[in-house]
Formats: sequence, structure tokens, C-alpha cells
Amino acid sequence: MFHATVLTLYPELFPGPLDASVLGRGRAEGHWSFDTVNIREFSDNKYGSVDDTPAGGGAGLVMRADILAAAIDSVERNDRPILCLSPRGKPLTQRRAQSLSKGPGVIALCGRFEGIDERIFAARDVEEVSIGDFVLAGGEIAAMALIEACVRLIPGVLGCASSLGEESFEGGLLEYPQYTRPRDFEGRAIPDVLLSGDHQRIADWRRKEAEKITRTRRPDLFERFEQDGPIRRDKNKD
Ligand code: SAH
Repeated sequence: MFHATVLTLYPELFPGPLDASVLGRGRAEGHWSFDTVNIREFSDNKYGSVDDTPAGGGAGLVMRADILAAAIDSVERNDRPILCLSPRGKPLTQRRAQSLSKGPGVIALCGRFEGIDERIFAARDVEEVSIGDFVLAGGEIAAMALIEACVRLIPGVLGCASSLGEESFEGGLLEYPQYTRPRDFEGRAIPDVLLSGDHQRIADWRRKEAEKITRTRRPDLFERFEQDGPIRRDKNKD
């Protein structure tokens, strides 16, 4: 079963949104589980501090490698990757979430302050993962995003498994536009084709719209889509 362990200075933030709706139900039903480790418990001083000033000078504080190592070593690894949430990391992708969701889970390390001592990455085989090109105040929200992206893909967690195959990124494209009632909203109608009952025409229209949206909003994705074709759920590597 997928088990997420989150190493954080703020364990009280969890499970937070991970316990809402289908994810919470999925956890109650035993499709996935999680726990937290409070890094501060591994502090070696009476003040409970886990950080120190940066070598070489400069602003802020850096989380200490020895304290992080002790926190990591307290966790049963079970073949799980240790992923440190970091703006310097490899960007998280849907493909990576798919691959992680099929594995034993993740150990997520949340940074705070200026960041963490570089030596921990090689010393404990920690991989840096980013959730986007912007800077958060800490890794906790990023860890929640990573875990949520994985857990919703675990069979049984989302009610309607077939909706997964058609979403943004799954076929290498962003999703086509969706509509529902009312048929007329402030003078804006649902496109006729969607009310035609002609499944082939509807599929063709959706595909065309998905390509159009991807081409205009994300030319980078569209170029990759044209080169590689759709992402195959059954043969993704990372
Ligand atoms: N000084 C660092 C940023 C520190 S932000 C730098 O310039 O790279 C504090 C913590 O927030 C980081 O250690 C990381 O755990 C988390 N964080 C910030 N932005 C993130 C992002 N885009 N993705 C994942 N984690 C992020």
C-alpha cells in the first residue's frame, strides 16, 4: 500500500486537505496511509533548534544536515524514494505522479528557512522535487500537492476511474472544455455538438479543442506531444 511519511517542522498542518473528500475516504478505506515525523524532535539542544547560520555568510538560516539525517534514519524506508520539496528540484509531472502512485509511497522532506544543508542530498540519497517555478515559505504545501497528485491515482480512491484517462496531461494534452446545465448561461450556449448525441463527432470536437488549448497555452507541451505522441499509462518510466 502507498504510504507517505512527511518530515516537517509543522506536523500539525497534516493531514489538512489530504483528509477532505475522496482522499480522506480513500485513507479511511485503507487505500493509502500517511504519518509525520517532527524534525524538531531530533534537535540536539535544549532550545529545539534545527538550523544555523549559512557557512560563508548571508541572510537566513539553513537546516542542519546532521539533524535531518537523524530524522530520516528514524523512518522505515521500505524502498520508498526520499523526495525533498525544493524550488531547485526536477519539476513534478503527471508522469512522475503516476509512477510513484504504483509504488510503496514516498518520504517527503519539507524545507523551511533559506533551505537545507547541501550534504544531506548525497548522504541519504535524497532527490529534490519542485512543484513549480515560484518560491513558497516551506515545503509542506508542496508535499501535500505531491501526495495528493499520487494518491488520487491509486485505484479505488476516485469514484470514477475512467475520468482519469481523459484529464489534462494524461494523453499529453490539456483537457478539452467542459460544460453542464443550464443549457443557456447568461446568453452563452453549450456548443451544439455536445448536445448532438453523436459520440464520434463529440470525441473529434473534444480532441480538436484539447489540441487548440494546448497549442495556445502550452506550446512546450504541444511540441512534446507531437514528437512523442500520447503518454501511455502502462509504460511510463519516471
Ligand atoms: N532559498 C531557497 C528557497 C527556500 S524556500 C532557494 O532559493 O532555493 C523554503 C522551503 O520551501 C524550501 O526548502 C522548500 O522545501 C520549500 N519550497 C519553496 N518553493 C518550493 C517549490 N517551488 N517546490 C517545492 N518546494 C518548495
